[in-house]
Amino acid sequence: MEIKLQQDNEQMIRALSRSGRIPHTVIIESGDSGERESAAILLAAGAVCEQEDRPCLSCKACRKVLEGFHPDVFIPEPSKNLKSGILSLKDLRDDYLAQMSIKPNEASAKVYIFRDADKLLREDSQNALLKTIEEPPQNLLFIFTLESAKNMLLTVRSRARIITLRRTSSTDEESEQVARALIGGIVSLYEYDLLRELTALSDKEKLRSSLTALTEKLRLALAFYSGIRTDDGDVKKLTRKLDRSRTIALIEATGEALSKLKTNVNLQLLVTWLSSQYRRITWQK
Ligand SMILES: [Zn+2]
Repeated sequence: MEIKLQQDNEQMIRALSRSGRIPHTVIIESGDSGERESAAILLAAGAVCEQEDRPCLSCKACRKVLEGFHPDVFIPEPSKNLKSGILSLKDLRDDYLAQMSIKPNEASAKVYIFRDADKLLREDSQNALLKTIEEPPQNLLFIFTLESAKNMLLTVRSRARIITLRRTSSTDEESEQVARALIGGIVSLYEYDLLRELTALSDKEKLRSSLTALTEKLRLALAFYSGIRTDDGDVKKLTRKLDRSRTIALIEATGEALSKLKTNVNLQLLVTWLSSQYRRITWQK
C-alpha cells in the first residue's frame, strides 16, 4: 500500500520511530480511516525496519510491511462466522494470543495492528489482551486504530500512548490566525490581551473553529513534551511558557467550552468563563 498522510502527521510518526522509544501500546485516533491505516503501517515499518533512519520504506523489511506480508506484522481480520466486523474472543485466542509470546520470525519486533479496534474487539477481547498490554513480552507492539480513543476500555487506554492525527482542513486560514492571536494572549504577561482576543469573537461558528484550531496547536505542544519536535512557531511559543500539565488543563478547558458551544449558551458569558479558566491555568504558580 501507499502511505498517505498529511505532512505533520507523518513527521509525528517518524519522530516517534526515530526516537527509539516506541511504547508497547499505541492508539491512533482521529484523522480519516485511510490516514489512520497509513499511520499504523508507517509505525509498524518503523518497528521492523533494518535501516538506521527508520522507517526507510525501501529496505526488505519495510517493503514487506507495505506489501502486507511481513511475517512479524499481523493485522487481525474480523471473524468470518460473525457479522459486523467483530473478531471473536475464541479466534483472538486461537489465532493470535497464543503466539504473542513467541519470538519474532525475522525482525526485532512483532507488531499487531487492530484496525477499527473498538468494533473489532468487544470488551471481552480487550480484557483478554489486557494482561499482555500490562506485561508485554519484549519488542511487542500493539497498534489500535479507531476514530476516538475514548471508545476503548479505560484500562487499555490508560496504558497506551495516544496519537491524535491532525484532521485535514478542519481549520481555515482565518481560524488559524485567531488561534495564533489567542496563543499570543495566553503567553502574554497581560491578562487583558487574552480577554481582548476572546471577546473579539462575536459569533458561535467563528469561536468554534478558532477554538478547534487552538486545540490542534495545544495537542502539538503536548506531543512536544513527549519528545516529538515541531517547527511550528506558535507551538514553540506555547512550550516556552507552559508545561505538560498546564497544556493538558488548557486542552480540557477548551474542550469544555467547545461542548458548551453546542448548547444554547450565552456567548459573552462563555467567553468570560473561558478567559478566566485560561488565566487561572496559565498564571497559577
Ligand atoms: Zn526500512
